[in-house]
Amino acid sequence: MAERDADLVILGGGSGGYACALRAAELGLSVTLVEQDKLGGTCLHYGCIPTKALLHAAEVADAARDGDAIGVKSSLAGIDMAGVNSYKDGVVARLYKGLQGLVSSRGITYVEGSGRFVAPNAVEVDGQRITGRHVVLATGSYPRSLPGLDIGGRIVTSEQALTLDEVPERVVVLGGGVIGAEFASVWRSFGADVTIVEALPHLVPSEDEFCSKLLERAFRKRRIMFKTGVKLTGAQQGERGVSVGLDSGEQLDADLLLVAVGRGPNTAGHGYEEAGVTLDRGFVVTDDRLRTNLPDVHAVGDIVPGLQLAHRGFAQGIFVAEDIAGLAPPPIDEAGIPRVTYCEPEVASVGLTEAAARERYGEVHTLTYDLAGNGKSQILRTSGAVKLVKAGAEGVTGPVVGVHMVGARVGELIGEAQLIYNWDATAEDVAALIHAHPTQTEALGEAHLALAGKPLHAHG
Ligand SMILES: Cc1cc2nc3c(=O)[nH]c(=O)nc-3n(C[C@H](O)[C@H](O)[C@H](O)COP(=O)(O)OP(=O)(O)OC[C@H]3O[C@@H](n4cnc5c(N)ncnc54)[C@H](O)[C@@H]3O)c2cc1C
Repeated sequence: MAERDADLVILGGGSGGYACALRAAELGLSVTLVEQDKLGGTCLHYGCIPTKALLHAAEVADAARDGDAIGVKSSLAGIDMAGVNSYKDGVVARLYKGLQGLVSSRGITYVEGSGRFVAPNAVEVDGQRITGRHVVLATGSYPRSLPGLDIGGRIVTSEQALTLDEVPERVVVLGGGVIGAEFASVWRSFGADVTIVEALPHLVPSEDEFCSKLLERAFRKRRIMFKTGVKLTGAQQGERGVSVGLDSGEQLDADLLLVAVGRGPNTAGHGYEEAGVTLDRGFVVTDDRLRTNLPDVHAVGDIVPGLQLAHRGFAQGIFVAEDIAGLAPPPIDEAGIPRVTYCEPEVASVGLTEAAARERYGEVHTLTYDLAGNGKSQILRTSGAVKLVKAGAEGVTGPVVGVHMVGARVGELIGEAQLIYNWDATAEDVAALIHAHPTQTEALGEAHLALAGKPLHAHG
C-alpha cells in the first residue's frame, strides 16, 4: 500500500474542494485533491453553469417571441434542444478545460477515484493510502426525493432535466425553491405548460415574503401555474405521462415530473461516521472556523449546514486554506452571502429578511422602490422592486441589514448590494454615491436616496 504525504488532502473536487486546493497551493502548501467524477463538481457540470446556459437560451427565446412588442419583427420558430444542449455543453466544456489547466498549473496532485476517509490524516483511494497534515471533506450534495417517489423515466431530478432532448409539453415541478423556479422559468419560455407544487405557503420560501409575492405575481403573468401549501401524495407514470396526486384531492397530468425538493449532504459511504466525524441529519457539524470534531479535519461546501451555493463553497474553501496556512481569516457571515434565483424575473437578496431583522434588532424600518421609476428597467420592460431593511426606527441612522430585489437582471445588482450589507453601510453612505444613468443600479441608488429622506424619482 503506497503512502503519499501532503499538507492538505481534499476529498471532493467541487466548488468547495477545488477552491481550497487552489488557494492552499497559492499559499505554498502541498495539496492532493481527490475527485471521483469530474473536477468542478455539481456547479460546473450539473448545476449553476448548465442551468444558467438554459436560462440564457430561455431569455433569447422570450426576446424572439416578444420582439414585435418593441417594433422588432420576430417570432419564435421553435426550440431545437440539440442546439440548446450543444451550446450549454460547449460552455461547460470550455470552463472545465480551463479549470483542469488551472489545477495542474498550480502543482496540485490530482487523484482520480473514489476516496474513503479512513483516519483524521488519511484518505484511501483504490487501496492507496494518501496522508496529509490536514484533511478537508468536500463531498457535496445529491438531489433528494420524497419517500415513495422513485426517480426514473418521467420522474426526474435536475440532473436528468439538464439533458432532455425535447421540450416537454406539460411539466409538474415539485418544489418552488431556487432550482424549481429556475427550471419552471426555462420550460415556460420554451413553450411548456408548467405547474409548480410547493408545500410551503410561498414560492422561493426562504426569501423575504416581499420577493415571494412579486415573483408569484410575475409568474402568474407568465402563466406559470403554481399551487402553494399543497403536498404531493403520489405519482404514477405510464407510457404516455405521469399523473401526480395532491393532498388537495387534485390530480395533475404531465409529461414530466421534476422533483426539486432540495439537496441532501453526500456524507454516507465515505467513511465519515466510522472515523468518528460528528454528523447532524447527515450534515457535517463544524464550528465557525469550519473545523469538525476531529483534529485537523475541516469540512466545506454543501455538506456543511447552511446555504447550498457555489460561491459559499468557494469562500469556505479559501477560508480553510488560509486558516491552515496561519492567516487567521475572520469567520464567514452566512447572511452576507448573496443569493440569486435566476428565473425570469430574477430574485436577488443579501442580508436579513425583514422578519429576521425584526427578531435581531427589534425595531427596523423598510423602504420599497418600484422599478417603474427606473429608466433602464422600463427600457427592458421589466417590473419589480427593491426593498431595503434598515436596523432601527424610521429617522434613526442605522446600517442597511437587508436588500431584496425582484426584476429582470437584478442578479447583477447583488454585487453592490452585498457591499452595502457587508460594509455596514447606511442609507446616507450609499445616497452619497453616484450611479450611472440609465442603469438598473440606479434603482439601488434611488432606494437609498429615499431611505435617507431625499427621494428623487419616487412618487408618494
Ligand atoms: C440545478 C442546480 C443549479 C444550481 N445553481 C446554482 C447557482 O446558480 N449558483 C450557486 O451558487 N449554486 C448553484 N447550485 C449549487 C451549487 O452547485 C453547489 O452549492 C456547489 O456545487 C457545492 O459545492 P461542493 O464543493 O460542496 O459540492 P459539489 O460541487 O457537489 O462537489 C463535490 C464533489 O465531490 C466529489 N465526491 C463525492 N464523494 C467523493 C468521494 N468519496 N471521493 C472523491 N470524490 C467525491 C463529487 O464527485 C463532486 O465532484 C446549483 C445546484 C444545482 C443542483
